[in-house]
Amino acid sequence: MIEGACHCGQVRWSVPGDPEWLTSCTCSYCARAGALWAAYPARDVVLNYAPLAVIRYEHGGRSLAFISCGTCGCTTHYESNDPAPDTRMKVNMRMAVNYDFTHLSLRVFDGADSWRYLDE
Ligand SMILES: [Zn+2]
Repeated sequence: MIEGACHCGQVRWSVPGDPEWLTSCTCSYCARAGALWAAYPARDVVLNYAPLAVIRYEHGGRSLAFISCGTCGCTTHYESNDPAPDTRMKVNMRMAVNYDFTHLSLRVFDGADSWRYLDE
């Protein structure tokens, strides 16, 4: 199990193990957040935070919300607005606690333009 937390610890997640790869996305939000995304089925992601403790940020009519801690500002994960349990969810592996992710491969997703992985 891998556990993640924002800097102040109010927003926490856990996932069962290594993701297949980490994604660095070039879209206008992810590039700013500096996130390294790890994808899991939503049913495998355990979230622990108080709803009023976070900022939910949606933009561009997308079907997802970026979640950031309202106190320390770290972007911890994003949530799909689709409630189906097999929906893919991504956590920001930069929040991982006591977990070395440097063995994972890093893929760049061109969210700014083509919406494809650049290694495809
Ligand atoms: Zn925090």
